[in-house]
Order: sequence, then structure tokens, then C-alpha cells
Amino acid sequence: ARRAFPAWSSTPAAERSALLLKLADLIEKNLDVLAKAEAIDNGKPIGVARTVDIPRVVANFRFFATAILHTRSELHDADGKHLNYTLRKPRGVAGLISPWNLPLYLLTWKIAPAIATGNTCVAKPSEVTPMTAFLFSKLVIEAGIPPGVINIVHGQGLRTGAALVTHVDVPTISFTGSTGVGKWISENAGAHLKRISLELGGKNPLIVFEDADVDAAALQALRASMSNQGQICLCGSRMLVHKSIHDRFVAALNERMRWIKVGDPLDGTTEFGALVSEAHLKKVESYAELAKSQGAKFICGGARVPKDKLPDRCKEGYFFSPTLITNVPMGCRILHEEVFGPIATVESFETEADAILSANATPYGLAATLFTSNVSRAHRVAAQLDAGIVWVNCWMIRDLRTPFGGTKESGVGREGGDDAIRFFTEPKNVCVAI
Ligand code: NAD
Repeated sequence: ARRAFPAWSSTPAAERSALLLKLADLIEKNLDVLAKAEAIDNGKPIGVARTVDIPRVVANFRFFATAILHTRSELHDADGKHLNYTLRKPRGVAGLISPWNLPLYLLTWKIAPAIATGNTCVAKPSEVTPMTAFLFSKLVIEAGIPPGVINIVHGQGLRTGAALVTHVDVPTISFTGSTGVGKWISENAGAHLKRISLELGGKNPLIVFEDADVDAAALQALRASMSNQGQICLCGSRMLVHKSIHDRFVAALNERMRWIKVGDPLDGTTEFGALVSEAHLKKVESYAELAKSQGAKFICGGARVPKDKLPDRCKEGYFFSPTLITNVPMGCRILHEEVFGPIATVESFETEADAILSANATPYGLAATLFTSNVSRAHRVAAQLDAGIVWVNCWMIRDLRTPFGGTKESGVGREGGDDAIRFFTEPKNVCVAI
């Protein structure tokens, strides 16, 4: 990557753009192969990989391939005596580290802006789901991206990932993963004064006010808590519902949860697949047991999917049922820690102020969702929630132009749009006397 940097960083933007667009076309052409690999590797339904994960990989490359053709720089005229302007230069080799839940989607969300802006990169996918990154590396070669520009390196976090974090030739680290590892990276990359972006965990509140459309909210709440088996950092699985509509909302959500089609991830009609690994299944299970032991009420789910409900191929798989829990005692860890699985909890509140207080009472600050038909309340509450992104009457709508990231223990820095271009480039001010 270091050797490839001088030539790649001086390649005209239009040429870099054309190569990225060619890569995007190849990914689109191989959508079915990549989606199948992702479903096998990860346990997610192939329909989700086909309609969400892989199309987003294509979008990541197209977005940044065209964004670099439209950058501009301001010039500051100081009374006709001096002209000041800012150049933006690529920073060198970028170390890009990603998790297993949206494997190629998140890895390419980093690769695309890094190389579009003229950096070269060493990208390390999660060791839990390496398959799509491997297939992608073949497409990189086929697209004609020069050798050394995109390097995919497989390996464990503590070995391969840590080597990138501490390597003197890697001045930029973009990491998406757990908060614990993020803190380790912050300390160790910080010792080398590297530029870092950390996209970490979340415990995202989903608030339903008494003036909301309860059925519409329940439908979005289902998506927000069960998509990808609850394994999305942005999942809104901590639900706070006004007490006057609590029972109605729980009934509406329960009704929908019971009808989710659980099944073989390779079956195109499956809506809900397997968790990523046995270790993760045990972690999710332990949270359900914790809530049970503290007297919470299980409306549905709460255990592994019974084997007789699974097709033969999947009987030994890591399936955990969609789970809805109420009456969780305050202070139970399930209300404040990231479960990263298909467990939704519902708490009730009385006033708007209580809802905001409760929503902000976790160490995280990634995303929040709220449902209301009162437009003033929507803006008022959105402004007061500790979150990098707030969705009102919708969930997980992502506009790639907007800054993406979290506050508090959910991360440092922002990715996406102009923020990504700024992150991967170094500003240099030039002052000319005239
Ligand atoms: P993880 O932190 O265990 O691993 C993420 C990546 O970091 C993997 O590639 C891993 O090999 C690597 N890694 C581990 N230790 C390392 C070290 N010491 N140095 C360098 N790299 C190291 O996370 P995970 O279990 O793969 O993913 C789940 C987590 O990711 C959840 O907490 C979830 O919220 C978070 N996540 C956050 C976002 C976001 O945008 N904020 C998006 C998706 C997932």
C-alpha cells in the first residue's frame, strides 16, 4: 500500500472515478454470488443480502466515485493583499477495520472514500465473516484497480487488526466495531498521533408518543428491532412507549413478531435467519435469562428456535426467536447494555421530559427513533436526544451525503459524505502575497 501510494495519489480524479465505477458495475453483476456468500457466512436471509447489503456496496462506490468529481475549495481574499486557499491531499495508507454484521457494506463504506480521495488502503474484514471480502478482492483485480491500492488482509483482531493500528506507515485508522475494542484502538493509535474514526456500539431508544399512529409505529418498531436478527448497530430495540398506549402498542408489535418467517437463510422467502455464531447466540441467550431471573414478562420468544420449527439443514444452526419483553425492572443491564440480538424491551413513560431522560440514560449515543404526529414535538425532542442520528416516524433511512456516527461511547468522528472526504484528506493552507 505504501509503495502504491505515490502513483495512485497522483492519478487524475476522473481516472480514479472511472475505476471505482467499473468496480461498482462488477459488484452489481455479481450481486447474486455475493449475496449468497454473505447469507452463508453470516446467517442473514439472502433476501436481505440481495436487497440491502450488496446494493449498498454498489452505492458506496458510485457515491464516492462521483463525489470526488465535485469537490471545491474556498479562496479567502485578504484585502487584495493576500490570497488564502486550502488544498486537500490524501494522507497515505489507511487502515480499515470492520465488523461481521454488515460485512461488505461496512468495509466498502470505508474503502470507497479512502481510495476515491487518493489514499491506498489495507482493509481487514471481520475474521467471523471473511467470505464476501475475499470474493470482492477478485473483483478489485478484475476492475483493474492497480496492485497495492486496495489490500484485503484477513486475520484476527488482536493480531492483524492490532498490527494495523500500531504500524508506523498507517497514519489513518477507520474502525467500526465494539466500544471495548474502540477504546483500545483510541489508546494505541493515539500513542502514534494517528487520525482515527471510531464507529462503535449503541443502545438506541425508540420512543412512541401518545399522539403517534400506533400501527405504523409498531411496524417500524418490528423492523428496527428484528432486522438482521437485531444485529445492526442502529437497531432501536429499547422501546419507550407512553403509558396510555403501552398495551395497544405491545399487542400490535407482538402480533407482527409472531408472523415473522423464521427459516433457512438461503431461502428467498425467509425474513429472519440465524445469529452469526454460537458464542453470540450464548451472549444473547444470557441477556434473556438475566431478564427472566429479574422477573421480566416475556410476551413472545425468549429462547432458541425449537429444532422442529427449522428445516433439516438448519437444525444445528444458531437461531434465537424474536423476543418481546415488558416489565423489566429498572436497573436491569438489558436496558442499558447492547444485546445486539433479536430482543426488544418495552418500558412506559408518562411525560415527554421522562421519555427524554430515560432515552439518554445509557452510556451510548448512536441513534434514536421517535414516533409522533406533533411536528413541534418531533423537532423539540430530536434536538434533545443524545444521538448522532434521529429518525422521526421512520427508521434506518440513510442518505449517504449526511454525516454518520455517534456521541458518548458510540464513537468519535463522523463518516459519510463530505465528512469522509475530510477524514481521508489532509488540509494544507496556502497563503500567497499579491
Ligand atoms: P469487534 O469490536 O469484536 O470487532 C470488529 C473488528 O475489529 C473485527 O475486524 C476484529 O477482528 C477487529 N479487532 C478486534 N480487536 C482488535 C484490536 N485490538 N485491534 C484492531 N482490530 C481489532 O466487533 P464485532 O463483534 O465484529 O461487531 C459488533 C459490534 O460492532 C457491535 O458493538 C456493534 O454495535 C458495532 N457496530 C457499530 C457500527 C457503527 O456504525 N457504529 C456498525 C456496525 C457494528
